[in-house]
Amino acid sequence: MHISPSYRTRLLRGLSVTVCACAAVFAGALHCLAEPPIEKDDPPAIRRLVSEHLTLYTDLPPGDEVDALPALFDQAFPQWCAYFGLDPADHVSWHVRAHLMRSRERFEAAGFVPAELHDFTSGYAIGDRLWCYDQTSDYYRRHLLLHEGTHAFMQSLLGGVGPLWYAEGMAELLATHTLEDGKLTLNQFPKSPGEVSKWGRIELVQTAFDALRAKTLERVFEYDAAQHRENEWYGWCWAAAAFFDGDPRYRARFRQLHDTVDQPDFTERWREALGDDWGRAQEDWQLFVANLDYGYDFARTNVEMVAGEPLPAEGARIEVAADRGWQSSGIRLTEGRTYRVVARGRYQVAAEPSVWWCEPGGVTIRYHDGLPLGILLAAVRADGAPSGTTGLIKPLAIGLESALRAPRDGTLYLRINESSGELSDNAGSLQVDVLPE
Ligand SMILES: [Zn+2]
Repeated sequence: MHISPSYRTRLLRGLSVTVCACAAVFAGALHCLAEPPIEKDDPPAIRRLVSEHLTLYTDLPPGDEVDALPALFDQAFPQWCAYFGLDPADHVSWHVRAHLMRSRERFEAAGFVPAELHDFTSGYAIGDRLWCYDQTSDYYRRHLLLHEGTHAFMQSLLGGVGPLWYAEGMAELLATHTLEDGKLTLNQFPKSPGEVSKWGRIELVQTAFDALRAKTLERVFEYDAAQHRENEWYGWCWAAAAFFDGDPRYRARFRQLHDTVDQPDFTERWREALGDDWGRAQEDWQLFVANLDYGYDFARTNVEMVAGEPLPAEGARIEVAADRGWQSSGIRLTEGRTYRVVARGRYQVAAEPSVWWCEPGGVTIRYHDGLPLGILLAAVRADGAPSGTTGLIKPLAIGLESALRAPRDGTLYLRINESSGELSDNAGSLQVDVLPE
């Protein structure tokens, strides 16, 4: 819930974002090195925990969180198989060696770190072997193991990981998980920061957008090794994968992409697979980035693009649902002309702890994106094939009544000001009159 105007700012200040800065090595796997024997110290400085699909070496002391990791890795295996279209029965012997290190020096001294392993920030994967530094949050320790595990799975069972945007996007997408009563579920869109402690990908994208550094899809696709250690890229790669996997318009095609991870023209093939939807995807991506939030509701934020007709001389009345993102008014505005927009109605903008009623002026004790929650917003989208920056990411505050000067020729879209993650507990509608001036 957005509880104050400075919600996002406070979040960013309070959040110590930990980013993988994973340096997965996908080509030129190391020579097969036997692991050194476990030390005979009592207790051993490096313990070995073994499950069906994971052998975990760690210098962390025994504890429920760490000792549960191999069994959780085993829970991830059939989910990776399902996502990538493999039968787990065909890969029962698949096994990964992981090193969860508090002290890299200790692992080096014991011979667990090959000389070829470069310095890395958080995690590193080479074929079916991986190394992770310990993390300060239980969530992020699991996430990092699953992130590197996804790289290992793709490299060893799919025969490749695709270009960097896809490799890191898939590792981030599938590592983002919930754990409830011991049940691990991969590929979960986080509903709140508390679910994903120290993860911070959503904040990385929000911060970049607010600072006018948002990346286009084209730019994300160009992500290369020279930028590999820049933290923000993990946010962008996750966002691109979460967008294509989350939006029903693109999901089925995106989930076929793993068939081409070994193709040098992988990204070009993806653009071809999008076909006539490529322009729409670029506009939907802008909307996704501009409205990205915990619990992002793809169904309710989906925009039905309907080109409008000229406004009749007597004006027009439009019904705007409170529980959806942008909605076409069906009215075409002319650049430079001014229109009077008058709104009325009473609708629900929250259900907990009790129903919160709102009128088109919004509620001034609670804000979203710098404007009162629930206030009526307008935007003018140029009709025709999408190109450049969509008018839908430049909302204008209307409230109860405003004179609206059309910034461009195009169709008027309306919505109330609300987080993309909090539309589902809204209800009701408002009536908006648009009149020529
Ligand atoms: Zn990675």
